[in-house]
Amino acid sequence: MAGILVYAEHKEGKLKRVSYELLCKGREIASQKGEGLWAVIIGNGIGDAVEELSSSADKVFVFEDPSLEPYNSDRYIQLLAGLIEREKPSLVLAGATIQGRDLFPSLAGVLGKGVVVDCLSIELQDGKFVYRKPFYGGKVLGEVSLKEEPEIVLVRPRAFQIVDQPKVQGTVIREKVEIDEDRVKVKTLKIEKPEGKVLDITEADVVVCGGRGLKSPDNFKLLEELAEVLGGAVGATRAVVDAGWRPQSEQVGKSGKTVSPNLYFAIGLSGAVHHVMGMDSSKVIVAINRDPMAPIFQYADYGIVADLFEIVPLLIEELKKGRGS
Ligand code: FAD
Repeated sequence: MAGILVYAEHKEGKLKRVSYELLCKGREIASQKGEGLWAVIIGNGIGDAVEELSSSADKVFVFEDPSLEPYNSDRYIQLLAGLIEREKPSLVLAGATIQGRDLFPSLAGVLGKGVVVDCLSIELQDGKFVYRKPFYGGKVLGEVSLKEEPEIVLVRPRAFQIVDQPKVQGTVIREKVEIDEDRVKVKTLKIEKPEGKVLDITEADVVVCGGRGLKSPDNFKLLEELAEVLGGAVGATRAVVDAGWRPQSEQVGKSGKTVSPNLYFAIGLSGAVHHVMGMDSSKVIVAINRDPMAPIFQYADYGIVADLFEIVPLLIEELKKGRGS
């Protein structure tokens, strides 16, 4: 039986939210097509993730070895290419995350196949998959389909919901890790980890994003406080990241991350097209800007024309009152 293969991305053995989203969507599509749902995971110390995957996918292909941690695209491509050529899935689903965007276009090149990046929805029409995705920096949405299997599709995190699924007892297949080290060009020197426990902006339900209007890095404490009250994460515009006020991992936009939280606060940022490309699929957008003509208001569901230094403290105070703390 053919299958839909989900790339189970994880961080140090903990599955990322997008992996659960893809397993749910993958199961729905597999049922429609009468195919199996498969998952592949690569890394080291991934026992718990493998166990979780085997309760969702019919087959779990596991590449586990110390050489596979940290992530290395040269090694991962070799393993995935071999697996896909052997198992011939009809569709390969992965997250349009930084890792997904690094890995899968190159893998598609190695396999000589097409790839759809930043997919927002998938429909089966007359037995053929149709993928909806943004074009021209998000100005239009278009539909594309691919001519050849396996179709490789990178899905925007949070495009699909996590829904309760009946548990299965999937078969775990431990694969041999054979890598041609002569073809490994990228070597990892050092991994820098953020201090403390930081919520990834692509996984957060609420993102509180600040721009140059904050005026100084210290003033981001205000946004950190608002994010904390809301259980969210702080994001930043490129102007702010380039100025060294916030880390690159928080950058939202074309050259940063794409986020789709349930609630997005755009505070003291203008709404330049390069920024909007990374946040316009947020479910509810609230903009705070003192300039009524700021482009961000065109995208906002709620707009507050005011000085952020007056409004944000009030907002924090009211939210804290509402929560009784
Ligand atoms: P500004 O445009 O300077 O806006 C600041 C806003 O703050 C203004 O609207 C102002 O009215 C408001 N403000 C000021 N004071 C207050 C106050 N007291 N209260 C309320 N409001 C106030 N940008 C990104 O963000 N992400 C990207 O990934 C990205 N990629 C890019 C890629 C390329 C190839 C290029 C060319 C550009 C990219 N940019 C990106 C840059 C982008 O074009 C903008 O320059 C940037 O987003 C502007 O950042 P900003 O909104 O913080 O600053």
